Amino acid sequence: MPQTMKAAVLHALRTPLAIEQVPIPEPGHGELLIKVTACGVCHSDLHAVDGDWTPPPVIPLIPGHEVAGKVAKAGPGVTGFSAGDDVGVPWMYSSCGQCEFCFAGMETICKSGEATGYTKPGGYAEYMIAPAAFVGRLPAGTDPYAMAPILCAGVTTYRGLKRTGARPGQWVAIVGIGGLGHIAVQYARAMGLRVAAVDVSAEKLELAKSLGAEITVNGADADPVAIIQDTLGGAHAAVVTAVATKAFEQAILMLRPGGTVAYIGLPGGKSDEIRASISAITNWELSIRGSNVGTRLDLNEAVAFAANGLVKATIRTEPLERINAILEDMRQGRIVGRVVLKLA
Ligand code: NAD
Ligand code: ZN
Ligand code: ZN
Repeated sequence: MPQTMKAAVLHALRTPLAIEQVPIPEPGHGELLIKVTACGVCHSDLHAVDGDWTPPPVIPLIPGHEVAGKVAKAGPGVTGFSAGDDVGVPWMYSSCGQCEFCFAGMETICKSGEATGYTKPGGYAEYMIAPAAFVGRLPAGTDPYAMAPILCAGVTTYRGLKRTGARPGQWVAIVGIGGLGHIAVQYARAMGLRVAAVDVSAEKLELAKSLGAEITVNGADADPVAIIQDTLGGAHAAVVTAVATKAFEQAILMLRPGGTVAYIGLPGGKSDEIRASISAITNWELSIRGSNVGTRLDLNEAVAFAANGLVKATIRTEPLERINAILEDMRQGRIVGRVVLKLA
C-alpha cells in the first residue's frame, strides 16, 4: 500500500484547488479507509470553494461528497464491512445519535453533525476516511460512476420529493434542472408523479424532457408561474434546486391551493433571502419545507431506485486534474447533468 495519495486541496477560499500528494489517512475506531473510484462534483462543492455559506468550510479542505468506492481497510471495532466491499459516502459524514433530532429519525438536522468535504476531508482524493455507521452500502457490481451522484443529488432530491407529500398522479414542478434537478425528474417519475420542469437553459430542459418531464418552461424567456398556473391550475408540489433567489420566489406562486414546496438549493450569501406574499401563503394554505440531504434510510431507498434501473444520472467523467475547469463550467451554468471525477 502506498504512503501518499493524490488529492485536490483548497488552501484559501476563492482560490483554485491544488493537486497535491498528501498522506493516506489511517482509519480510527469505527472508521473505514475507502479507496475512491468516483466522486461527483456537486454545486455545494463550488459553494464551499467560493465561501458562499456561513460558517465557511474547514480549511485546508479536500472537497467532495458524492463518493463511490471500495473499502480498503476497516479500523478497529468495525463490524459488517470487509476490504473490497462497494460503498458510498454522502454529505452527512456523521450525526451525534443522541439528540432529540437523531432520536426522532431526523439525523439530517442534528446540530452536532459533520459534513463530508466541508468539515471533514472528502472524495476529491484517491482515499478517504468515513465512519462505518454512516457509509452507504452499494450493491456489488453497480457502475460506480453512474452511482456516485446518487450519494448527494439522488438522496437529496428523493427526500425533497417525499417531503412535499405529493402522491402518484399529482403534478410536481422541478425548478432547476442541473445535477440535482435532472435526477429529481427521474425520482418523481419513478414515484408516479407528473413533472413540469423549469430551468433557464434550453439544453437542460431537453434533458428533462428526455427523462420524462411532460411540460418544460424556460424561465429565461417565459414566465414559469403564469404557464404552470394557466396549464395546470398550479402544481400540487414543487422542488427547488436552482441556484437563484428568483426561482424560490416563483416556486411558491407555481403551487395550487394546498400545495407544498420543498426548498433544496442553497444560493447563500446575498442571494439567501426571498420575498413572498403572506396572503398567498395564508389564503391558499401553502407549505414551504426545507429539505437537507437525507437520512441513512433515505440513502438506502435512493440507492435501491438506482440499482433497479429506475434512476440513472447523466454523467461525463473527468480526471481530478480538470477540477478547476469543471468548477468554472459550473459557475457559468455550462454543465448538463453531472460531472463525475474518475479517481480509479
Ligand atoms: P447545478 O449547478 O448543477 O444546477 C443548478 C441549476 O439551476 C442549473 O441547471 C441552472 O441552469 C438552474 N437555474 C439557475 N437559475 C435558475 C432560475 N432562475 N430558474 C430555474 N433554474 C435556474 O447545481 P446542483 O449540483 O444541482 O445543486 C443545486 C443547489 O442545491 C446548490 O445550491 C447546492 O448547494 C444545493 N444542494 C442542496 C442540498 C440540500 O441538502 N439541501 C444538497 C445538495 C445540493
Ligand atoms: Zn451535494
Ligand atoms: Zn444528533
